[in-house]
Amino acid sequence: PADAVTIREACLRASSFLRDCGVDDHASSAEWLLQHALGLDRSDFLMRWGEPFPMERHEAWRRMLERRAQGEPVQYITGEQEFYGLPFRVTPAVLIPRQETELLVEQIVKIGRRMWPNGGPLVADIGCGSGAIPVTIAVQCPGWNVTATDISADAVEVARANAEANGVGDRIRFYTGDLLEAYVRERIRVDILVSNPPYIESADIAGLQREVRLYEPMLALDGGPDGLRFYRRILEQIRELPAPPALIGFELGQGQARAVAELLRIAGHWDDIRIVEDLAGIERHVIGSIKFS
Ligand code: GLN
Repeated sequence: PADAVTIREACLRASSFLRDCGVDDHASSAEWLLQHALGLDRSDFLMRWGEPFPMERHEAWRRMLERRAQGEPVQYITGEQEFYGLPFRVTPAVLIPRQETELLVEQIVKIGRRMWPNGGPLVADIGCGSGAIPVTIAVQCPGWNVTATDISADAVEVARANAEANGVGDRIRFYTGDLLEAYVRERIRVDILVSNPPYIESADIAGLQREVRLYEPMLALDGGPDGLRFYRRILEQIRELPAPPALIGFELGQGQARAVAELLRIAGHWDDIRIVEDLAGIERHVIGSIKFS
């Protein structure tokens, strides 16, 4: 075993090891992984900075660093990611929830509360992955009827566990299927449709960061030749529902907002179509709504 070091020294050594391996966010990676390896929350971690690193954790710690050095995202190593202040479990079967998506939830909740002041719209999240979207909506809107679907049964299992862990397990109905398939089959009337579908152009997959390209599920990334495959398919399937959703919100990639807004316009159901920028100033969401008379 190595000489006794403090937690602080272990963290600094890990950070420079990861930097030498070409990891961009080496300092924060080292901190997150070390907190996880020691089973400490952030404040305990900082408080114990000066204590000796517990040698019995050394082997587990070394294995975690090795995985990060290969390029595996911190979240798949720790198995967790926070979203909208709530803890989510993540596995390689699901995309790691991104911060931009919090803004989509915020918009949908804000507009939805205005449109349904007297209660419960039915929400459908198409391609729910980890369940970040439906779980946070269910937590914030106790009167809403929340449903979610994903083509990956493994993803639905993760989403269900996240609903349970956040106290809304009995509030969300999950389906496994291709986009709106289950809703069309069961003739479900969807009031609010929300989706953060795969939107990377197939030709751009090779140029993605190694962390994303080698570790996140391709099924959650590849949006077809022009990246718009799933917006088109969802808008086509909507025609087979009992009625079009009165509120629809999509997340999208940089440069896609105009094209997706145009697809909504062509579909012809929504009176108001707006583009929302994220905190980095990127046009990130397109939201369509029907005016109630
Ligand atoms: N809806 C999930 C999320 O926003 C998954 C999205 C996806 O896999 N494309 O995190």
